[in-house]
Amino acid sequence: MALIVPGKSKCALCEAVLQQGDRLVATSHFIGDRSDPLWRYSDAPFHYRCFIRWKSRHEFICKFNDIVRKSDSPAARAQYMTWDGEILEGTDEDVRGVRVQSLLIILDELWMRAECAPLEDLLRVRPGDSKNHEFRDYWAELTLPEHLAFWEGRVLGGGMNPMAQEWSERALEDCRRRANSK
Ligand SMILES: [Zn+2]
Repeated sequence: MALIVPGKSKCALCEAVLQQGDRLVATSHFIGDRSDPLWRYSDAPFHYRCFIRWKSRHEFICKFNDIVRKSDSPAARAQYMTWDGEILEGTDEDVRGVRVQSLLIILDELWMRAECAPLEDLLRVRPGDSKNHEFRDYWAELTLPEHLAFWEGRVLGGGMNPMAQEWSERALEDCRRRANSK
């Protein structure tokens, strides 16, 4: 774990000095490749509030989970990072759940930025229209075939608000189609 000295260490994102009692996120040194743009953030502390708003948060979490779960050490292999930077022990199913949750947060933000447009509009591709490509890219990751079990469980589980229900049903539909065409 990153060595953190309150009153001396700095947040890798806002560069302010960390104070005793600040809520933090930190990892061990897990990125070996110095040319990786995220390299300097591995083994570095962040304020929780900075981490949550960081535009590379999702990529960082996925990279951490991907790398630690392939590590040689059984203790490291059991670990994973949650969508808000907590490091826990869990299964591959937990890791997939975190990825979906983290994507839903991004998609929700993009949806609000698009003035809560209907999902149908955000996913529609018109020739020469690159407007919603970010939304569609994250949606494509959300509906990877490996997320099928997640969406099946969620739609059958029910108890969601109508919008969450609609998104989940569409995600399941897309996911199923992609799993079947594999
Ligand atoms: Zn900060």
